[in-house]
Amino acid sequence: MKPSIYNLTKEKLIEWVVSQGEKKFRAIQIWEWLYRKQVTTFTEMTNLSNDFINRLDAHFVVNPLKQSIVQTSVDGTIKYLFELHDHQFIETVLMRQKYGLSICVTTQVGCRMGCSFCASGLLSKKRNLSVGEIVAQIMQVQNSLMDERVSHVVVMGIGEPFDNYENVLDFLHIINDDKGLAIGARHITVSTSGLATKIYDFATNDLQINLAISLHAPGNEIRSRLMRINRSIPLEKLMAAVEFYTKTTNRRVTFEYILLSGVNDQVHHAQKLANLLKNKKKLAYVNLIPYNPVNEYDQYTRSKQADVLRFYDILKKNKINCVIRQEFGTDIDAACGQLRAKQLEKDSVNLEAKNEMSKV
Ligand code: SAH
Ligand code: SF4
Repeated sequence: MKPSIYNLTKEKLIEWVVSQGEKKFRAIQIWEWLYRKQVTTFTEMTNLSNDFINRLDAHFVVNPLKQSIVQTSVDGTIKYLFELHDHQFIETVLMRQKYGLSICVTTQVGCRMGCSFCASGLLSKKRNLSVGEIVAQIMQVQNSLMDERVSHVVVMGIGEPFDNYENVLDFLHIINDDKGLAIGARHITVSTSGLATKIYDFATNDLQINLAISLHAPGNEIRSRLMRINRSIPLEKLMAAVEFYTKTTNRRVTFEYILLSGVNDQVHHAQKLANLLKNKKKLAYVNLIPYNPVNEYDQYTRSKQADVLRFYDILKKNKINCVIRQEFGTDIDAACGQLRAKQLEKDSVNLEAKNEMSKV
């Protein structure tokens, strides 16, 4: 299988073009064809020689994804299931926000963090996505739209982006490049479950990208139960990394907090959370997230509306910036990872059925 040309950052594309004995400006032409004019084949790059197009074709494919399922929600959310060359599945979600179109991209096949409330975590990690497989999610969705432009990106799909750090960073550089898709850094958010060393690295990178932390609990005891990562990187270490990030960048951090009935949504939890964030008031922003049940045997349930509002009020009274996140596409397996989980379930049922048949 040939690699995708979307794997290459602009610098790497220039290097490859020069290694082929071509002039550097050819790389910029290819870049503009890919990301400005958004062509999907090399033959459409009409200002390149036929010989060079043939060499591009011999080395690369453009898009490495095969579209498998598309589901459209009544609220306009579109969910894509893509098949990769090794028959793995990933998902991408397009959301219509008040401020524009936002895409949620996947960074790994599965996730090794194993959070107990997450469909992706329950299925373990198969492999990292390549840079091109992440970029292609945006290109494929953008290509399927008529006149609308994707203006925002959230790296909150399947996988832990900081567990695939180098590829995610190349991806961010590619989509942010002003000669290409030019998605503004302030319109891009990366969410992490809390890989502290990578938060230090991220603080000193040259992009002004937003950071979100999946917090989900105000203290170690509950967080370690919900998120295995907290057993090796406890809150003290995570918050020290976040402190370094805010001091270095002076940028705001979003804390994601899924409300789980009776687990983390009571008055004392809200007070403890307010306390945890009290030194960061200006630079902390809490996103209260409604829980999406993972399957019918789920150990968690969504918080009652009254508990959600009470939690919100306590944070507000403590002057913590906070919103209750709007839900998207609840009718189409909304939370990232759920469509893939269903597909795998279906595949394994089919496989079992096949095995049963072969036994007969
Ligand atoms: N691995 C990264 C990014 C992907 S998860 C992280 O954990 O931050 C993106 C967000 O979806 C996280 O905040 C995660 O906690 C949340 N999420 C996972 N499963 C969910 C569910 N069943 N309901 C609601 N949110 C969920
Ligand atoms: Fe992985 Fe994020 Fe899901 Fe946790 S919440 S299992 S880190 S994708």
